[in-house]
Amino acid sequence: MADFCPECDNLLRKKNENGKIYLVCKCGFQKELEQNSEKLNSSIQKKKIDLEKNLIIISEEDKVSVNLKTKKNCPKCGFTEAETWQVQIRGADEPMTHFFKCLKCKYTWREN
Ligand SMILES: [Zn+2]
Ligand SMILES: [Zn+2]
Repeated sequence: MADFCPECDNLLRKKNENGKIYLVCKCGFQKELEQNSEKLNSSIQKKKIDLEKNLIIISEEDKVSVNLKTKKNCPKCGFTEAETWQVQIRGADEPMTHFFKCLKCKYTWREN
């Protein structure tokens, strides 16, 4: 979609400044491109709503991290099931650290 300057009818160029998109003309005219940013915001908003819909059945505590259950012996109480999730602690080159949380006593530990 081409936009023309209302002052001199030259083609406006897009300029990105501080995260906002402006249409600028060489004559000095400029306007913020609001239409696109609104569209962007509403699509982000929609995604957020979709995400929240999916989270309704999950409890408040689980919202923070949706973890997988795995067969793992708790080093504290010996229970055989734990939640597991992975965290990249240092740089991107480092392997993931696996975290486990006992489903019975909530003891949390990590293994590399
Ligand atoms: Zn102009
Ligand atoms: Zn345990």
